[in-house]
Order: sequence, then structure tokens, then C-alpha cells
Amino acid sequence: MDGTLTRLPGHALASRLRAGELSSREIVGASLELAERHNRALNAWLTIDRERALAEADSADARFAAARAEGPAATAALHPLLGLPVALKDLVSLAGGQCTAGSRILEGYVAPYDAHITERLREAGAIVLGKTNMDEFAMGSSNEWSAFGPVSNPWDLDRVPGGSSGGSATAVAAGHVPFGIGTATGGSIRQPAALTGTVGMKPTYGRVSRYGIVAFASSLDQIGPFARDTRDAAALLHAVAGRDERDSTSAPVPVPDELLTLPAGDDEAAGWLRGKRLGLPREYFVAGMEPEVEARIREAVAALEGAGATVEDVSLPHTDYGLATYYIVAPAEASANLARYDGVRYGLSIREAGRDFIADYLATRGAGFGPEVKRRIMLGTYALSAGYYDAFYVKAQKVRTLIKRDFDDVFGSGIDALVAPTSPTVAFRFGARIADPVAMYLSDACTLPVNMAGLPGLSVPCGLAEGLPVGLQFIGPAWSELALLRFGRAYEAITAGAGWRSLEPAQLHLADDPSARTPMDRRAALA
Ligand code: GLN
Repeated sequence: MDGTLTRLPGHALASRLRAGELSSREIVGASLELAERHNRALNAWLTIDRERALAEADSADARFAAARAEGPAATAALHPLLGLPVALKDLVSLAGGQCTAGSRILEGYVAPYDAHITERLREAGAIVLGKTNMDEFAMGSSNEWSAFGPVSNPWDLDRVPGGSSGGSATAVAAGHVPFGIGTATGGSIRQPAALTGTVGMKPTYGRVSRYGIVAFASSLDQIGPFARDTRDAAALLHAVAGRDERDSTSAPVPVPDELLTLPAGDDEAAGWLRGKRLGLPREYFVAGMEPEVEARIREAVAALEGAGATVEDVSLPHTDYGLATYYIVAPAEASANLARYDGVRYGLSIREAGRDFIADYLATRGAGFGPEVKRRIMLGTYALSAGYYDAFYVKAQKVRTLIKRDFDDVFGSGIDALVAPTSPTVAFRFGARIADPVAMYLSDACTLPVNMAGLPGLSVPCGLAEGLPVGLQFIGPAWSELALLRFGRAYEAITAGAGWRSLEPAQLHLADDPSARTPMDRRAALA
């Protein structure tokens, strides 16, 4: 099988598929072979569904053949995702498949229906290769809180890929798939994208239906794409976005078709920057930021400026409260959402004859939830309890409004987008933050405020620090995904010749070894 196939972006594969130079079966076969071979070393996939994927590839090939027989208009009308493999985070329902959300409490649970985005991916003809590893209930920034073991970062197998969507980010970074689906409550798409050197976007709250997604914090959760470039990220967003009657928070805002036609040519792409105003929020250069990360961000900003954008220093004065308020609101909503795992309706059920229901309930939840989830349930229940509700939850919601207003003020002053670091540090070693929850929470200092405000954010790779990927973040007003992706595409264009762009993840070759150490072994060795 052609090993280079798996390094090609989705749009390159799509044109070869239409031309009949390549079949979906060949692509999916190469993807399966690579994902299966690497999974011992990376642990990115919780399930890989070879039979279903190959059967779907064959039906995609039949659609290509029929369209080619009909003529060029018919092939041009085919969806750009048709016949291409995609990774689904294991909290997205796929009828008849597992949906663990990284938790023991959902082990054995079978999703009875497809999530809205799964339906949309099927309609597009994309092929779900399998379900990816994640922090339990999407709580975490390193993927070390998965009940099914950590995931290794292909740039350094002793390091985390970020979280909570670490499995999807790694599957894309390692070339298993051109497309991956993640979810973000506070940073779980952009942060792992930054740490693995991939593109990741958190859309505006309400852009993508959450129907069929395991809920973490409902006023913050959004679904978004991972890809190796912005054109693919835009195509995947286009496939899953849009109003769905079954999620009342999904917005009836049109999804721009221009997402499918981001410029292929670098000159045209870079032209977008001329006359644009970018804001550089000073609060995003947080204490504890690694100097080399800051250097890469400043270089990227200078490059954007050199290509015609104006960059202005701006202030978002309530940024610092993002973390404190997020860790009230998110756990509060999580404690309510997780009340449904009662040992009766879903997955794990620890029962003893003659014992009352409450004892079974406590036993199930005690055994089924991991330590971070329990911490969140306790924090959230406390914040919502009588007497504390006003002092914590209501106060946090008020501060959330102030955070949102900071962004409104900046965008109201004519700034087109903000440019900022995605993560203050590069990928860290297993165990480095696990014993200190606040250190772990700080991983998302630059992404949390964006979720609190419900805004879209994009992370694109912007080079390496100490040999590890750094992410550059673009943040825009509500519904500005297309503009953000054009900024990201322009940045790709102006750095197209940079040496780091052609580098493979530095330790990916080690994952080829059938006796490679597993991430579990690596974590134990570092402990
Ligand atoms: N790391 C943050 C948390 O643990 C955000 C996670 C997420 O976006 N799902 O809550």
C-alpha cells in the first residue's frame, strides 16, 4: 500500500478520487493499516471498525463510478468528503457502536441512534474509521484522564497530545485520517491541535448541533474539526454545521458555502491579509508561558504584519477571570448532566440482590467515575447548593458576561480578529500536571475565555519550540468561522516555504515498531 497516501490532505485525495486515479478502498485500506499498526504505541483509537469502513468505501467507489459515467458535472457535484476517512471522538453517537466518553461508567453502552453530525457525515459519504480516545467525559487537557489509558503524542511518545480530544488530534497528526472530530468545552480542540501540530477549530456556540453528543457542560460544549490544513478543516466544518431541530441551541444561521472554496493558491490566500486589522491581546501572554512559545507567536504576528495586516495591541481586561469562572460553570453543569448515570439507564450497573437502589447507585457511580470526574461533580454540586448558588454560580455567570463584553468591545472597535497563543506551553510529559489540578487547568488559560463568550477560535501550527509544535490562535466575533479560516489559510500561505511545514511528527517512526512501548508503559516509567 502506498505509504504517502496517508500524508496527503483530504482535498488532494478528493481530486484523485474524482479523477479515478485512486479508490476509496485504497485510501481507507491504507488508513486502517496505519491506524492499526500505530495503535499499540499511540492508543489513539478505542475502536477501529475495519469491516464497516471497507464496506462503506466500496459504496463510495460505486458512487464515484456512477458519477464519472454521468460526466464532469456529476463528479464536480460530489461532496468533498465522499470516500474519505474520519475519526470520531468517542462521545459522538454512532448507531450500534460503543460510546464510552472515555469512562468506565459507559462501558457496554451501545448508542441507539446516530448523532446529528454522524448523520451529516454519512450523508456526505465520509467514512468513520472508528472512535477515538479522550479524557473521561471530556474533562482534562492531556488525555491522561481517559479510563482506557493515555495517548502518546507522535512528536514525542513520552508526552501528552493535549486533551480532551487527544485521540482525534493524534489520529490526524499521525496521518491515520485527514479528518477528525473533537469537542471543546474549554479548549479541547484548539489545545490538542496546538500540541500535535494540527489545525483545530472550535466554532461559535450553536453552529453545530449537539444532538447525540455526550454532554459535559451544555452552555459551553461545541463540536469542531481537526485536519492537517485549513482547507480540510473548513470542508469538515461545512459538512457538520447548521441548524438541527433536535438541538434548540443550534442556530438558524446560514453556513457559508465558501467554506468549500478556500483558495488553493498561496498568493490569493495571502491577499486576504491586506487591510485587515488584527488585535494582539496582551493578557494572553500569561505568566508561565514558555519563552520559545512566545517567540514563535511573536514571529507569526510579525509575518502577518509583513504580509499586509495591521496588528494593534488590545486589552481584554477580564481574561484572568476566565479560568476561575469556567471552573464554576463547567463543573456545575457537569454535575447536573452526569446525574443521569445512575446504573439503571446506561452502561455500568453494579447491583446486589437484596440491596436498596441507593446503595447500587453509589456503588455504580463510585466504581464507574474516575477521580477528575468525581472532583468536578463535587465542585459543581457545591457551587449549585443552597446558599452558595448566588455566591458562586450566579456570580460566575455575571463575570462571564463581562468576559463576553471585552470581546464585543474589541470587535466593535473594528478589529477583524484576535491573534494569540493557543497554549502557553508545548506538549508536556506524562505525569507532569496530573497531581496538580490547577496546573492542568492552566493549560487552557488562552482558550477558556473564548468558550465562555461562545465565540469561534482556530488554532493553526506556527512552527516548533524545542522540537515540539506551537499553535497560533485566531479568535473572531460570532459566526466568523469563514473569516478565521481565511486568516489561517493566509498564514499557511505566507509560511508555505518554512522548513517545519514539511516535517513529520518526530517520533512517529517509533510507532511502527510492533513491540513499541505502550503509552501506559511510558507513563508508568515516568511516574
Ligand atoms: N481542559 C478543560 C477541562 O478540563 C476543557 C476541556 C474541554 O474543552 N472539554 O474542563
